[in-house]
Formats: sequence, C-alpha cells, structure tokens
Amino acid sequence: MTTLTKTEDAAAPTGSDSFLSVRDLHVKFSTEDGVVNAVNGLSFDLERGKTLGIVGESGSGKSVTNLTVLGLHNPKSTTVEGDILLDGVNLTHAPESQLESLRGNKMSMIFQDALTALSPYYTVGRQISEPFRKHTGASKKEARDRAIEMLTKVGIPQPTLRVDDYPHQFSGGMRQRAMIAMSLVCNPDLLIADEPTTALDVTVQAQILDLLKDLQQEFGSAIIMITHDLGVVANMADDLLVMYAGRAVERGSVREVLKSPQHPYTWGLLGSMPRLNSSVDEPLMPIPGSPPSLLNPPSGCAFHPRCAFTGDVGGDACVSSRPGLPDGRGSACHLTAEQKQQVFIEKIQPRLG
Ligand code: SF4
Repeated sequence: MTTLTKTEDAAAPTGSDSFLSVRDLHVKFSTEDGVVNAVNGLSFDLERGKTLGIVGESGSGKSVTNLTVLGLHNPKSTTVEGDILLDGVNLTHAPESQLESLRGNKMSMIFQDALTALSPYYTVGRQISEPFRKHTGASKKEARDRAIEMLTKVGIPQPTLRVDDYPHQFSGGMRQRAMIAMSLVCNPDLLIADEPTTALDVTVQAQILDLLKDLQQEFGSAIIMITHDLGVVANMADDLLVMYAGRAVERGSVREVLKSPQHPYTWGLLGSMPRLNSSVDEPLMPIPGSPPSLLNPPSGCAFHPRCAFTGDVGGDACVSSRPGLPDGRGSACHLTAEQKQQVFIEKIQPRLG
C-alpha cells in the first residue's frame, strides 16, 4: 500500500524508498493583497503502481501542491520550500531544463477540462505524438503509429482515422480519453490527475476511471488523484489525504478513512455527499461557512470557525493551538481518540447511514 508515514511537520528528506516523497512542503504566493500561504508543511509518500487520493475544497492547496510537484508554478511570484523527491531527484532544486525533460516523460498530468488543455489548432494525433517524438527521438512515422496505438488503448473507435481529427470533432468523453492518451504516451512513472472526470456524465466518468485503472496496471504508474469527490477516491485510490487550508488534516488507507473518519472536516465532506440509499427529501449536510482566506488564516486549528465540536474539546485549545498530524493513520484535531470515536458513532454515522 501507499505509505503515509511521516508527520506533516517532518523537516527534512529522509531518504525514503518511495517513488515520490514530499517533505515539509511550503508554497507561498505574493499578491497585491499580501502573501498567500497556499501549502503549509505538507509531507507524503507514494509508491509505484499505487494511487493516492487528495481531497479538499477549492483553496485547500491540493492543486497547488501538484502543480508545484510538476514545477508548473510561476517562479517569479512563488516561494517553494521543502523537498520533492521523485525517484531520488530533488525537484525543488532542479533547474527548469531538467524539469522540462521530466514533464511528459517521467511525470505527467491529466487536466480537468480537455477542451482547454488540448490545442484547437493541431490534430489530436499530433498532440499525442509530439511529446513522444520530443522525449524519445522517434521519427514522425513511429510517433504517428504510437499515437494510433495510444488512441486504441484508450478506446477511441477507428483510431487510424480519428488520429487526424481536431479536438472539436471529438465528444467530451473522447477528448478526455485523448488527453489521457497524451499524458500516458511516454509511459510516465507519475501521473497526476486533477479532477479528471468532473466535466463528464457518470457513465463516461466510470469508463474513464476504469480506463485509468487498466492503464495503471499496464504501465505501473503511480497516480495522484485530486478530487472533491469521495466516490471517485473510493473507486480509485489506495490511500487518502484530506487537505484543509493548505495542510493535511487526515490521512490513512481509503478504507480506514471512509469507514471510520476521524476529523470533523472529513465528517463534513462525507455528510455533504449525496447517497444512493437516501430518500429524495433527505437534506444533505453542508459544511457551514466557507474556506478561510489563506492571506490571513484563522489561528489555532484553521477549521475552528466552521467546526461544531470545539465545545467537546473545551477551553480555547481549538482557537489558540494548532493540532499536529500524527505519524501514519491519524487526524489533526484536539479531540481525543475516544471522543472522535464516540462523536462519530453517536452523531455522524447515523446521519451517513
Ligand atoms: Fe474542530 Fe477543534 Fe478538532 Fe479543529 S481541533 S477540527 S476546531 S474540534
């Protein structure tokens, strides 16, 4: 299984055997309004062939983390501290030329919206074959054959004809498949999928997720699946990281986190998900309030302005002191293990069904 074994405050690279090892990552942006602390002390590990789900609301830092792993942040306005080790190479200190040769080759990304990620001016085949030519030195003919092979793998009908189509000639689901073909054309060891199925209907969504699983088995890629949809995570991931306000607040295997979630924010995410077995008039349980400004995050536990359980902790601990995330399975919350279990069983589980 994917290992998530170090504390979020781990200070230095550990020489972990993981394929991807993120250690004490901090990402800050300078804006006209001040400094945005987008990611604060994040650490995780990911092994080859495994999938890590990262969930959280907009602004939780999940997408920024992964753009930083790929080196796609703006170096002029962004400060990155900590270590990102990919197969032993420290990406935080790598020159742009090295990152460029790794992107598309060793690491690749599937974006949420294929229509904007694919260029309307080039054929689908050209957009799949170009990175292959660039990274392997293949001839035009070899690269075109490879594009047809990839379109076949992702289930595009008549690939020898459709390879010459432009993106607007593909349906939404086919464009998403074409983007997956483009991302996997060089057999990347790390694939980052940012809400890869959000824009698709549920049938196509299920097909795309099955396709990703099949391709992962074939290529042995490690996958980071960024999503706000815990259903997608349950289907795809081995392990789960829940992020809030730029920090990890809960982690563990998907089974552990979904079966016995420990953090009030995770309870909120689960409660706000529609369920198939609920009656049509049963209301969802939205998390009150909105995510905090990362220009000036709340003191103590950043979730405290939205949390219904500060009274169970007592005193002002939630407001004055930030809870740490323990090693391995755990959550960053001042409630005791017994309180978490009791609150979950008595107040949350009955509402989740
Ligand atoms: Fe809620 Fe306090 Fe736990 Fe934060 S530390 S999640 S505010 S109970």
